[in-house]
Amino acid sequence: MNSNDKLTRRQMLGVTVSAAAGLAGVATIASAPAAAQAFPHLDEKDPTAVALHYVHDAKLVDPKKNPTYKPGHHCANCLQLTGKAGDAWRPCNLFPRKLVAANGWCSAWVQKPGAA
Ligand code: SF4
Repeated sequence: MNSNDKLTRRQMLGVTVSAAAGLAGVATIASAPAAAQAFPHLDEKDPTAVALHYVHDAKLVDPKKNPTYKPGHHCANCLQLTGKAGDAWRPCNLFPRKLVAANGWCSAWVQKPGAA
């Protein structure tokens, strides 16, 4: 075995580690939507949810306590909602690793461009 053999083995090990890391990254990205749907539903009693007056049903918003709320505002037409259109529970940028109700609402609501 000469020094070129050792270098080759090191290079191969580096390629193997890089390839494994790359495959792990691809697997993570590929499973992200499925993993997101496995997140628990946001609890209305979650401290951040309470602070933002989040409710699962926008029809239950008290307009006197939430003057920015207008009928028709709900998570499904909010800029912060991600995930698959049509799903009843979807990820929200404000509540990482939780799902909010598409019919929900909170005081951080911002109209999604192009949404009615
Ligand atoms: S930020 Fe938007 S999508 Fe998220 S909970 Fe509030 S209203 Fe719903």
